[in-house]
Formats: sequence, C-alpha cells, structure tokens
Amino acid sequence: MPRIFWVTCPACEGRFYCHYEDLRHAGVPLLCPYCQHRFLVEESSAIDDRG
Ligand SMILES: [Zn+2]
Repeated sequence: MPRIFWVTCPACEGRFYCHYEDLRHAGVPLLCPYCQHRFLVEESSAIDDRG
C-alpha cells in the first residue's frame, strides 16, 4: 500500500491525502479537491505524516 500523508487546505480547511513518495518533498503545489486552491505542502494548515 503506498504511503500517504494528510494535508489541510489553508483556504477552506478541507482535509485530504496525497501520495507521500510523489508529493511530500516534491515542492510542487497541491490542488485542493474542495475549493481548487493550489498551495505548497509547507502552506498546509496541518500536516499528518502518520499515513
Ligand atoms: Zn480548499
């Protein structure tokens, strides 16, 4: 099972997960599925790496 991490959108506080290997340290913007806001992992209101 691929490792994932959870982020919280800084715009709408929506919580969703991303694939750890692809996105955790890639420095590319994440796309919020709720409000379509784009933000970097570092801008997430909360990050949960526990999988
Ligand atoms: Zn959002």
